[in-house]
Amino acid sequence: MIRAKIHLLVCGVALLLTTAVLAQSGSLYSYQDLSHFYYSKQRDSLKKAWTCPTSFKDKAAQKKYREIWDQRIDGIIGAINGDDYVHDNEVYTYIDGIVRQITEANRQLVPVKPFVFIDRSSWVNAYAVGGNLLAVNLGLITFSTTREELALAIAHEMSHNILHHVENAMYQKAEWLSSDDYKQSLNAVLDSKYERLSRLKKVLEGYTFSRNRHQRYHESEADSLAIILLKRSNIAFQAGYFLHLDSADLEYEHPLKHSLSAFFTAYHLPYEEGWTQKRSHGLSTRAYSFSDTSKLADSLKTHPDCVDRYAKTRSLTTPNAHLTPIPASIQDRANKMLLWNMYSGVSLTPCLYRILLIKDKGNTDLWYDFMLSNIFAGLYYSDRVLNRFNAIGVVPKEVISRDYYALQTLLEQIPRDNLKQACQTLQNGGFWKNMPSVEKDLKSFVFTLALDPDDSDRNKARAAHLFSTGNANSMYNELAQNFEKK
Ligand SMILES: [Zn+2]
Repeated sequence: MIRAKIHLLVCGVALLLTTAVLAQSGSLYSYQDLSHFYYSKQRDSLKKAWTCPTSFKDKAAQKKYREIWDQRIDGIIGAINGDDYVHDNEVYTYIDGIVRQITEANRQLVPVKPFVFIDRSSWVNAYAVGGNLLAVNLGLITFSTTREELALAIAHEMSHNILHHVENAMYQKAEWLSSDDYKQSLNAVLDSKYERLSRLKKVLEGYTFSRNRHQRYHESEADSLAIILLKRSNIAFQAGYFLHLDSADLEYEHPLKHSLSAFFTAYHLPYEEGWTQKRSHGLSTRAYSFSDTSKLADSLKTHPDCVDRYAKTRSLTTPNAHLTPIPASIQDRANKMLLWNMYSGVSLTPCLYRILLIKDKGNTDLWYDFMLSNIFAGLYYSDRVLNRFNAIGVVPKEVISRDYYALQTLLEQIPRDNLKQACQTLQNGGFWKNMPSVEKDLKSFVFTLALDPDDSDRNKARAAHLFSTGNANSMYNELAQNFEKK
């Protein structure tokens, strides 16, 4: 388990201590760009505009249909209210530019440009909502490498909307739930004396099976139409993207180039190899082979059938295509927004591991030091309020590397006093000297939570208020709001 990495340690430290550059991107989005605020008008008109069409003669079926329809609208409104979406001008304009190009080249199929949301999720995904709405996750943007890859994902979702897949699925669900078949099988289950649960499962499985079959068909239909949309837009199609997507769930399987101890040493943080090894019984690292983790079952993947989709479309790949890399500034912004979202969602290990992967590439942007400090302060704060385990954000072993598991174990097991020491070290880190003032203001707030001997709610609310009055437009205000409201 303990790996000799002394040579790596030496070069790791050298790499981390190269002259740090100032935060390059300036400010990201503002607090008012979060969806509960930015999309408040759209949210209010959504409910009025999206009325359920009358499609069933049967009253009960129509009622079911309306229920399913309303659930979808409530889902989207809930996502807007919950700040699932953000309107960062630069990233939004980039994504919307792709949507615009595809729309303008395909006016017959897409008379009106779809409405795009940027979803803050780290999942490598985009999704069609129906009704000419679609969403692109930050996770997809950071995962993709070229504009053409993003365009394929976007064209695929636009195709779902063009083909009314979402609406059709809702219609079919209403049809099934109000069918005699369903009612009879349900009654049979209720009448039966034995094995009700397993019988009920069978009834539901029947529906799920036929729905999955439909969905597979929908996927290949959407792929075919997407390729047409792209060709008409003069955007190269690369079937190879499907193979790239196949690895979408393996981001945390990526090993670290520099060892954990090198990272910790570079920041003068306490580190002991023993903290990275599980002391308790149960799932031990020794009993688990991390080498065979790349074989995640296809059905469990975010994007199943990728190899099949590749094989089906390979011959349509644009020959000698000129590919456009996604601009570094877009990737940088998307990455930071994604990390902040993970942090404010208190998912600390995935957040820290991503930062280490970025640092592994030699990135010396001070913003990542700022976030590293936030993570340790956040963890110590969680420990103080007896919530350390929840803050760690456990990820299933099947999709993580040995390094990730070691980091997760370390964050679980590092003794409280050492964690406090790590916080104090980071609080006094040299990197703060050149940090912009808003980050310094957040530092005061975060370290009040973590280290102030006064741990009353009133003191936390006071510190939150101090931050938000000075930085009402800051994206970090999201964190302060949680404590100010209390
Ligand atoms: Zn799809």
